[in-house]
Amino acid sequence: MVAEPTTTVLSVVIPMYNEEEALPALVSRLRPALDGTGVSYEVVAVDDGSADRTAELLEEFRLTWSELRIVKLRRNSGHQAALTAGLHSSVGAYVASIDADLQDPPEKIPEMLDLARSQNLDIVYGVRSDRSTDTGFKRWTAGAYYWLMRRMVGKRVPSQAGDFRLLSREAVDALKSLPDQQQVYRLLVPWLGFPSGQVTYFRDERVAGETKYPLSKMIRLAVDSIINFSAAPLRIATWLGVTSFFGCFAMLLATLGIYIGGKTVPGWTSLIVGMLFIGGVQLICVGLLGEYIGRIYTAVQHRPTFFIGYDSARDAAPQPKDGSKDQETAGAGV
Ligand code: UDP
Ligand code: MG
Repeated sequence: MVAEPTTTVLSVVIPMYNEEEALPALVSRLRPALDGTGVSYEVVAVDDGSADRTAELLEEFRLTWSELRIVKLRRNSGHQAALTAGLHSSVGAYVASIDADLQDPPEKIPEMLDLARSQNLDIVYGVRSDRSTDTGFKRWTAGAYYWLMRRMVGKRVPSQAGDFRLLSREAVDALKSLPDQQQVYRLLVPWLGFPSGQVTYFRDERVAGETKYPLSKMIRLAVDSIINFSAAPLRIATWLGVTSFFGCFAMLLATLGIYIGGKTVPGWTSLIVGMLFIGGVQLICVGLLGEYIGRIYTAVQHRPTFFIGYDSARDAAPQPKDGSKDQETAGAGV
């Protein structure tokens, strides 16, 4: 089922943002693992606008490792956009994606490739068997996230599967054809419905450096996940409206009762409570509408989510700092 359109069998896409500390360890484990497969491969290191020495170090490693390809984004575009840039640039018949911090073991990539080839699978997920190295907070939020996603997108979403996976060329092409602006691959990939398998692994601690996913980015990912896959939050507005209607109706009856009883003066508390409640409900509903309208607006603008400033497979040498004469590759419509 899986056609091999190029001679490169395997591409390994690695988004990197300020990973100078993790890079040497990554290369020392990834390279032997890939060399050991015996297949032709490329490593697509996507430098997501790093401000540290990531790009420099990559150039140094490339001098002795010809399979290493550097794709440099013009600015920090985010993990998922960096993954998109990598998927669009990759040429392999299979494309694996892995983080740069060695939390996911590169030694599992050959296993994923073997499984995909032997069982004719288009997707092999890396599933974390254990998250004991993550903080309690991270485990709790991740648990809640996957529970919600499985309810929304369906049981096809493996819980505890992040962005460590292997895709066939067909699956990559299917992903590339999607017009989504805010890609959440851990949901889009299962949603495609291709035959899939799993490889379990132990999630390690970050080898060096700090997480590049602060709480704000985690919240962004969760909001994108929910809103890209479900209109259910819009229904919350309806339910809040219905609930507040009945609440107000009860208050109306109470008010009439008090009026009939002739005690109409005290009413300040109920008035303020009612006003605040309705005001709050309305603001929540407007906010929810805003989230969807914002995304419709972004979709209509159809701006690329990343710009490739330099690709070592295409450009002879790193471009000049002023960037004046550069060619530009935009992530067309993604
Ligand atoms: N990353 C990226 N762009 C960003 C943030 C992160 O390319 O804006 C990369 C980062 O270098 C790493 C991967 O995405 O390779 C996952 O990030 P991290 O390990 O910091 O996330 P965590 O494992 O803490 O959730
Ligand atoms: Mg990590």
